[in-house]
Amino acid sequence: MGTIYSHSRLSSFENCPKQFEFRYIQKIPSTSEGIEAFVGKRVHEILERLYVFVGRGQIPGVEKVIDRYQKLWEESYDAERVRIVREGTPLSYYRELGENCLRGYYLRHYPFDDAETLGLERRVLFPLDSAGKYRMQGIIDRISRARDGAIEVHDYKTGARVPPQRILDQDRQLALYQIGLSREYGEDTPFRLVWHYVAKNRICSSTREPEELVSLRETTIQRIDEIEAATTFEARKIALCNWCEYKERCPLHATPETLARLEAEEKAVAEAAALAKAEDDRQLDLL
Ligand code: SF4
Repeated sequence: MGTIYSHSRLSSFENCPKQFEFRYIQKIPSTSEGIEAFVGKRVHEILERLYVFVGRGQIPGVEKVIDRYQKLWEESYDAERVRIVREGTPLSYYRELGENCLRGYYLRHYPFDDAETLGLERRVLFPLDSAGKYRMQGIIDRISRARDGAIEVHDYKTGARVPPQRILDQDRQLALYQIGLSREYGEDTPFRLVWHYVAKNRICSSTREPEELVSLRETTIQRIDEIEAATTFEARKIALCNWCEYKERCPLHATPETLARLEAEEKAVAEAAALAKAEDDRQLDLL
C-alpha cells in the first residue's frame, strides 16, 4: 500500500518542496508552533466540545464556553514552544482573538438547531481511483444534515482573511472531503461546503458539480504522481516562511553557524541512539 495523502501534505509540496521534504520525507519533528495555529487548535477543540454537549441536549451558556476556553489555554500554552511571529503583538491579543471567535460563533448559532450534527472531527479515508492506489485522508471539523437535506461539510477558520467566492469555488480540501463522504451518504445526495471565518463572523459556502469532482480526482492523482516522482526538493520563499517550523535549517534562511549547530546536535543524538542500541544488544546477548 502506498502513501496516504492529505490536503495539507499536497499543499506543503505545492507551496515549498523543501518544507515538504523536511516534514514528510525526513520526518524532522517540529519543536515549535505559531501562535495562530495554537489559537486555531483551541477554538476547534472548544467548538467540538460545545457540539458534544449540544448533542446531549445540554447547551452550555456562552460564559461557560469562554471559561472552558480560558482553562484550556492555561493548560495548553507553553511559552517555550509557541512562537509569536508578528513582533510586537502581545500574547493577550491572541488570547482575546480566540475568545472573540468563540463568542461570535456562539451568539450567531445559538441554540444550534439549524442542522443535525452527524460527525465531529471525523476522519475520512478514501481512494481516488477504483484500484485504491491513490488514497486520501482528512479530519472534518463537523458534518451536518441541513434542513433542506443537504450534507454540509464544515470547516472553521480563525485566520483574518476571507477569500473571494471564486477561490472558495475552487477549494480542494472540502471538495475532497465531499468525495470521501459521498461513499457514505450516496453520490446523489446534495452536499454543501461551508467555511466559518470565525474571526470575521462570516460564513461562506460553495457546491460542486459532479464533473468538477471528476476533474478534482484527476488533478489530485496527477499531483500525487508528480510528488512520487520528485527526486529534488527546492526551497521556495513564500509569504509564510516566517511561520515555517524549518526556517532555522532552511537553505534560504539558515546561517552557517545555525546549520553547524544543528548538524552537531543531530550527530550527538545519532551517537546516543547508537550507544543505547549497542547496550540493548549486549543485554540481549547476556539473557
Ligand atoms: S522557510 Fe520558507 S523556503 Fe524554507 S523550507 Fe520553510 S517554507 Fe520553504
